[in-house]
Amino acid sequence: MKKHNITLIPGDGIGPEITSAAVQCIEATGVDIQWDIQNAGLDVFKKTNDLLPQCVVYSIKKNRVALKGPLTTPVGSGIRSVNVALRMELDLYACIRPCKLLEGARSRYKDIDIVVVRENTEDLYAGIEFNYGTGEALKIAELISSLGIKKNISNSAISIKPISELATRRIVRFAFEYAVKNNRKKVTVVHKANIMKATDGLFLWVAREVAQQYQEKVEFEDRIVDNMCMQLVQKPELYDVLVLPNLYGDIISDLCAGLIGGLGMAPGANFGDNIVVFEAVHGSAPRYKGMNKVNPTAMLLSSVLMLQHIQEKKAAERLYKAVADVIKEGRYVTYDLKGKTDIASAVGTSEMADAIIERMRR
Ligand code: NAD
Repeated sequence: MKKHNITLIPGDGIGPEITSAAVQCIEATGVDIQWDIQNAGLDVFKKTNDLLPQCVVYSIKKNRVALKGPLTTPVGSGIRSVNVALRMELDLYACIRPCKLLEGARSRYKDIDIVVVRENTEDLYAGIEFNYGTGEALKIAELISSLGIKKNISNSAISIKPISELATRRIVRFAFEYAVKNNRKKVTVVHKANIMKATDGLFLWVAREVAQQYQEKVEFEDRIVDNMCMQLVQKPELYDVLVLPNLYGDIISDLCAGLIGGLGMAPGANFGDNIVVFEAVHGSAPRYKGMNKVNPTAMLLSSVLMLQHIQEKKAAERLYKAVADVIKEGRYVTYDLKGKTDIASAVGTSEMADAIIERMRR
């Protein structure tokens, strides 16, 4: 049996609880994994003044595969997101988030099977920002005015939204390649090119060009992002693979998680050319930290994606089936998978993981 070396980042908030559940379930499949445990984020920052120690990056580069718990980014603190920093540092340019509705999950819908493909390296996440009242912000305002643009932004904070042809081409190609490999029928590009003619205009233009190379195999269409939100709420069954720039991808991912029962259900993977980091869509949900309460499914389904990636197809199938069976049965599941009337019978994160392991043993 092949031994796999994989970096494990427990994360913070609910991260350690859900990664612990994931490790136990993965090990119960019988795959042989040597975990290289690496810490990043706020807890590490308090001790070392470094949110993302280089040893974490080194470990992922060496192992090429990582399973990562969520990491907290305090709002308005001036601290940059470690999650974004990691994606940039490793050039994990493509984020895929399959949102498939499982029987037993609490959803208003039926038959949801959408894959969100999010660009991960640019757009408003590029981190090119200028705080209100600083010399840099004033310089940008002066430059804008010197270009003859009649818009006074000298009293503003400024964030820059770069969208490049190269990054757009590779993410759209990734979406089409994913569609072809996974037998998906349609790719929808999501944008706001009617307003952001330069940036989203480029994204749409490049997407149309790439789509032509796949026209025999995969259908293509585009949607303006606000309309996309309404369409996803009203008729999500019409959509298959969505490809989006970074910020819309982030927002639409949570919307799609909502269609399949909430953030506890949505897995994800961040792909670079040689490295993949698997993580749930959700964050560190700090108010549930240490309560053994949250749903481990998103992390477990991310683990299924990881097992598929390392060619452990049987283990991936076993874990997926056990998760699906436990959710379908609806007995040993967390609060978000219970109805209002039987919420008192919800189990904790670790008990749900135990039930999944028990299923795999049958
Ligand atoms: P969040 O995703 O952490 O949680 C929002 C809400 O979703 C929770 O309060 C909870 O009700 C629900 N939820 C999330 N995960 C769940 C689970 N496994 N089971 C059941 N319910 C679940 O979003 P937030 O509160 O906006 O962000 C908290 C922190 O996480 C922030 O610092 C944010 O920056 C960070 N974050 C990190 C990542 C990442 O590590 N990739 C992603 C998103 C947010």
